[in-house]
Amino acid sequence: MADLKLDVLAIAAHPDDIEITCGGLMIKLANSGRKTGALDLTRGEMGTFGSQNDRDAEAIAAGEIMGLSYRNNLSIPDSAVEYNQENKLKLAQVIRDTNPELVILPHWKQRHPDHLACSKLGFDACFLAGLKKINLEGDPCRPRKIIYASYSRTAEYSFLVDISDEFKQKCDAVAAYKSQFDSPEKAKRIFQPGLNVFDYMDTKSKFLGQLAGVAHAESYFVKESILIDDPQNMPVSSI
Ligand SMILES: [Zn+2]
Repeated sequence: MADLKLDVLAIAAHPDDIEITCGGLMIKLANSGRKTGALDLTRGEMGTFGSQNDRDAEAIAAGEIMGLSYRNNLSIPDSAVEYNQENKLKLAQVIRDTNPELVILPHWKQRHPDHLACSKLGFDACFLAGLKKINLEGDPCRPRKIIYASYSRTAEYSFLVDISDEFKQKCDAVAAYKSQFDSPEKAKRIFQPGLNVFDYMDTKSKFLGQLAGVAHAESYFVKESILIDDPQNMPVSSI
């Protein structure tokens, strides 16, 4: 494990969060030859549908569709992800083991308490992994960049990523979670009342894409400024 070096690690609370929120970007990066990984904090055992074994197998299948080089699950109890030092260190050990340059975390505004805890734990873990004297195995390291993936309640964003070519593959990865989404009724009940998860992804990514002149896009957030070298060649025309 210690010699694994990822380009990108996405961290989320539940199996399928990564696929739904940043699956397009993860696929785009993997398709361009980057080594991508996913860390799920829980095994989703509090979900209404599906056994834990089903969901474990579905996460592996979805990871194969996304072209992941690595997937791990910390098996923290679902719906009880606590923001504490023990969990920070569990995440920080994965940061050390995989040494990603880019980390994708859930946005810091959340409805589900596990998502909120995951966002905070992930940021702190990236920091702690770089401390020389902390009680972790392996060499100190820190990701160079952290970006935040959008959930349903986050409307503002820092930048968009064109996922037109990856959208179908993203939907296939989400569909791999058969226990959650293999019928319209399940998809509706699980994700959000009155919405089907595939319709939701389609509507949202088309709306975002329309803002940037592409078919489908995903939105992301950064806390730092975005530095541009050459405004003359910035994508997306103004008029
Ligand atoms: Zn979730």
